[in-house]
Amino acid sequence: MAEDGTTDIFVIGGGINGCGIARDAAGRSLSVRLAEMGDLASATSSASTKLFHGGLRYLEYFEFRLVREALIEREVLLRMMPHIAWPMRFVLPYHRDMRFDASAPASRLLAAVMPWMKGRRPDWLIRLGLLMYDTLGGRKILPPTRVLDLTDSPEGAPLKPEFRKAFEYSDCWVEDCRLVVLNARDAAARGAQILTRTKVLEAAPEGRLWRIETENVETGERRTHHARLLVNAGGPWVGDVLRHRVRLNAASGVRLVRGSHIVTRRLFDHDKCYFLQGSDGRIIFAIPYETDFTLIGTTDVEHDDPDTPPVCTPEEQRYLLDFANQYLADPISEADIVWTYSGVRPLYDDGASSATAATRDYTLTLENAGSAPVLNVFGGKITTYRRLAESALEKIGAHFPAMSGPWTANGVLPGGDFPVDGVSAMVGSLRAEYPFLTAFWARRLVRAYGTDARRVLGRATAEEDLGPGFGATLTGAEVAWLMENEYARTADDVIWRRSKLGLRLSDGEVARLEAWMAERRAALTAAAELQRAPREEDPDGSGTERCGDVGGGADPNLPDRCHGPRL
Ligand SMILES: Cc1cc2nc3c(=O)[nH]c(=O)nc-3n(C[C@H](O)[C@H](O)[C@H](O)COP(=O)(O)OP(=O)(O)OC[C@H]3O[C@@H](n4cnc5c(N)ncnc54)[C@H](O)[C@@H]3O)c2cc1C
Repeated sequence: MAEDGTTDIFVIGGGINGCGIARDAAGRSLSVRLAEMGDLASATSSASTKLFHGGLRYLEYFEFRLVREALIEREVLLRMMPHIAWPMRFVLPYHRDMRFDASAPASRLLAAVMPWMKGRRPDWLIRLGLLMYDTLGGRKILPPTRVLDLTDSPEGAPLKPEFRKAFEYSDCWVEDCRLVVLNARDAAARGAQILTRTKVLEAAPEGRLWRIETENVETGERRTHHARLLVNAGGPWVGDVLRHRVRLNAASGVRLVRGSHIVTRRLFDHDKCYFLQGSDGRIIFAIPYETDFTLIGTTDVEHDDPDTPPVCTPEEQRYLLDFANQYLADPISEADIVWTYSGVRPLYDDGASSATAATRDYTLTLENAGSAPVLNVFGGKITTYRRLAESALEKIGAHFPAMSGPWTANGVLPGGDFPVDGVSAMVGSLRAEYPFLTAFWARRLVRAYGTDARRVLGRATAEEDLGPGFGATLTGAEVAWLMENEYARTADDVIWRRSKLGLRLSDGEVARLEAWMAERRAALTAAAELQRAPREEDPDGSGTERCGDVGGGADPNLPDRCHGPRL
């Protein structure tokens, strides 16, 4: 960062794409500041289906580049983050009445050469798709496709008896919000400044620089920043940022498509997912979720305004229930739904007729406002975020000739420095070290924090050493870790994004957590003010959170760090 606080890059948006770009750039020694108006991953990046996947259905849209890149990427990502991502097997039950999305190019081609097959998704075509899926991506860790007899198998048990055969293939699961937070943490560890609850109000060219005005949405405090290059990773707001913050008339457009999920009590007793094909040509997933639940989604509905919070409407709930009930032997109803969530896909507008058919690939545009450049991010998948960041850095390379080359393919995320198949061993050793942990608790901590789980637990020898218990194994020590190291500010940040413990906590427990966090937040703010007060000069001009401020200071081993806000 320059002495006057000017950075090389200013990133708007703390979703996966903004944080991925910030991390990559910081690792190449560029100075980076990122502003996120809410919590990290508070928009689309915490509302995904949470799959690192090639996207089997995209083959029908001939999106071979996207599928190949995503397939190759799955194993790179597994190695980078074996705690928060893991392989999963997908069961695709076959039935001869399966239908294509009529607008899919594969459907139109098949109808042209085999008119009698019009609209059908035949068995041999699924096999062909899976063969491509197995071979396009240079698979090493993930097992290959196989055919499954459903008539006498645990995978067939929850399904109606007419489903007798299935195909089984591999993809991966990822904890989407933790992925974002760990990218942000790693970016900060490499020198980036991550400002959450900070909205970009305006960005205007000033000579060769950008002048960026931000507002802290908690305190109302306004600040001015300068940067050489602006990255617009606003997700659903990418168009809003362009038109209203940067005030550029860009040719590229964004298409907002809402996707909703329902969560039910656990519907089956194995750890595989179902890939279900509907009579409308769409597909949905039914996925084992958070040990005791099943996740079902998603929908594709046009969404007009990014400022309208997405919700899973009663119609979408009914659609997902009816879809799943085409397969399930024991039908489910609204009464089985315990939670829903919804997000908006910021898709690149390629003019496709339906929301389902719109491309899931990403597009990066570099524009100049005078001589100040802005890079806009349209579309993309969680799965391709790292490659998207590499492409972004390549695209802006000419502006930073001294910048080093790509590095993230081998750059493990915080807590992920252990082998891909090492989770069970780590759970065992954590329980040996901390005998008071239950199996559920230890696994949850390893899955969330990996090798950092020990830093969360510190020198505790009994549960009581971890401060107040908020229910469902959430303790003061863990919440303190999340506030000090992972940018958590509110109970929602903790129970719906950095964990999914909201599924298990009562209203009373959440209220107690909120009160505890409010007290601690006040103490953290007071401590930050104290730290800042004697510093007359303010080299970066921002004066607020500095690199590592959120995490750096507190010693995780101090026994009293989890007993209340005593900083
Ligand atoms: C239902 C659904 C299911 C999906 N499933 C998958 C899947 O299984 N696998 C997969 O690979 N992909 C999936 N995706 C796609 C993936 O989730 C998205 O492509 C990705 O999360 C987009 O990330 P982003 O960073 O571009 O946007 P976001 O996560 O929305 O981040 C943009 C951020 O910018 C911030 N922002 C906007 N304007 C401003 C401003 N003026 N100042 C400060 N901050 C601002 C917002 O608050 C927001 O947090 C799914 C998407 C949806 C909706």
